[in-house]
Amino acid sequence: MYKPDRVVICEVGPRDGLQNEEKVLTVEEKISLIEKVADAGFKVIEVGSFMHPRAVPQMATTDEVFRGLRKKEGVEYRALIGNARGVERAVACGCDKVKLNVSACREHNLANLNMTPEESVARFKESTDLARAHQIAVSGSISMPFGSPWQYRIPVEEVKTIVEAYIDLGITEISLSDASGMAMPDQVYDLCSRLKADYPEVKWILHFHNTRGMGIANIVAAMAAGITWFDASFGGLGGCPFVPGAAGNVVTEDVVHMCEEMGIETGINLDKGLEIARWVGRLVAHELPGFVLKAGKNSDLLK
Ligand code: ZN
Repeated sequence: MYKPDRVVICEVGPRDGLQNEEKVLTVEEKISLIEKVADAGFKVIEVGSFMHPRAVPQMATTDEVFRGLRKKEGVEYRALIGNARGVERAVACGCDKVKLNVSACREHNLANLNMTPEESVARFKESTDLARAHQIAVSGSISMPFGSPWQYRIPVEEVKTIVEAYIDLGITEISLSDASGMAMPDQVYDLCSRLKADYPEVKWILHFHNTRGMGIANIVAAMAAGITWFDASFGGLGGCPFVPGAAGNVVTEDVVHMCEEMGIETGINLDKGLEIARWVGRLVAHELPGFVLKAGKNSDLLK
């Protein structure tokens, strides 16, 4: 079976996980968490978002978190934004990478925003121009490219149109986010293979939610297609307020554990990762769905 020698796991728990938690962590707790994550070896961390605080109150303190953070050399600290206001906030607090997002679901986008997804992307020009003027890197995300509750499966041609709209803006780091948890491994393999071949200039990041238990299987399928960048969340924290029954992201420690067992390098200290997940479980005051968190590592069985 084809597998990569090494992969990069981006920790998105501080944003995608915590934004869906009832309990809002303090700025100090968030900073401490992000510093622990960097210390465990993660090279990419999604710190928070610059959405309107009324829309996402859990992320209202992202600016303060960035200001208080002791950044580690060689680690990328990114944030999700909705528009140019997000870039202004990024500039003001020292965030040097922002991520834009559009829904791949044409029907949803037309009903909500009265424009197609690619028209939405074209409107990001104001944000990308402003970001570039301030030396801030920009990446793009496409949510629900595999399926949405409104449109079921999304035709590949529709996803490609959105990818091309991002490329037109000069964005060549694109994440495919299965926010609805509807992706299946064969579909992931096919879409990733096709997009990789058609747009070799793009760096792809795959972002899976475990809503129907398919997160890890989908990661394996994407790896088989040559994808090496993945988002994950410690303990499997999170969900999605717009998707019925949504579960959190694929579990960071479970992915790292699988990679270790499969001989795929991650650069992450799994024991530290497990400690973080246990600590986060105490902070949010409920049990987290991680498997290795409960069962321990394979290698623990030999002790
Ligand atoms: Zn997500």
